[in-house]
Amino acid sequence: MAEENGSEFKPRDYFSAENARPSKSLGQNFITDKRVIERIMSEAGITSDDEVLEIGPGLGALTFALARKAARVVAVEKDARLAERLGGVLAGWPNVELICRDALDVDFGALYKGRRLKVTANLPYSVSSPILIRLLRNRGMFSTLVLMLQLEVGERISSPPGRKEYGSLSVLVQTYFDVKLLFRVPPSSFWPAPRVDSVVLKLTPLSEPRVPIPDEAAYEKILRASFSSRRKMLGNSLGSLLKKGAADKVLAAAGIDRTRRAETLSVKEFGAICREAVKSGELA
Ligand code: SAM
Repeated sequence: MAEENGSEFKPRDYFSAENARPSKSLGQNFITDKRVIERIMSEAGITSDDEVLEIGPGLGALTFALARKAARVVAVEKDARLAERLGGVLAGWPNVELICRDALDVDFGALYKGRRLKVTANLPYSVSSPILIRLLRNRGMFSTLVLMLQLEVGERISSPPGRKEYGSLSVLVQTYFDVKLLFRVPPSSFWPAPRVDSVVLKLTPLSEPRVPIPDEAAYEKILRASFSSRRKMLGNSLGSLLKKGAADKVLAAAGIDRTRRAETLSVKEFGAICREAVKSGELA
């Protein structure tokens, strides 16, 4: 059957048969280029021992390729129409568990059976950052993540300090993962074609964060406050988070000039700010 080889399945045929359209708000751009699927599979290096989490399987372009290789595939799809369709064609694959749910609500802990999952996804672009942050907070359950994202988000994640792309997401991801940009994918590899280029990247959770982080929730807050107004001096941006006068003391203790801007700071420097802020007990 055509669906058994997911790469032969044409999403356009499904939508025209259903007299429906892909949802823009759900970021439905389906991979139609078989070579992209093959490259993702080869970079993910799935073996018959692996358990895989796929976010947003859509009509199964990647899911079938994963099902053929992995011991277990858990696929989380928010769109009930697509999940119903995919559930039907996946009936012959007992190693695939399809969950019709928002990936932002799924309890990853309930999917974890003791072996770290490999994550693969062509992420819905509209929610790729919040999904990434959820994956990051649950990174202990994952061994590697091979993700397709909008090029611009991929550039943000991998950017070094000093570039306009460098922001809280860059610092956060680089604190906890090794980041490797793998390859670019043009709009013509999808149906419907998105307006922007995409990129596939590999994230590997570090065994320890790149710098000691005593309180991860506080660290996230510090990053958000630091980058909330990129042109502000750090002493002022952190003023919203630390009690009056404390921001300057924390920065001085971390050895960082209060007039610097967030985009110039390294992961190491943000780690130092977090440690001093937690030590000071002045976090609001
Ligand atoms: N994996 C398929 C492919 O590559 O052809 C589809 C990828 S498409 C870019 C993103 C998929 O994620 C869509 O199927 C969409 O319905 C689904 N999706 C969107 N938001 C989601 C969410 N919050 N949780 C789970 N799935 C979501």
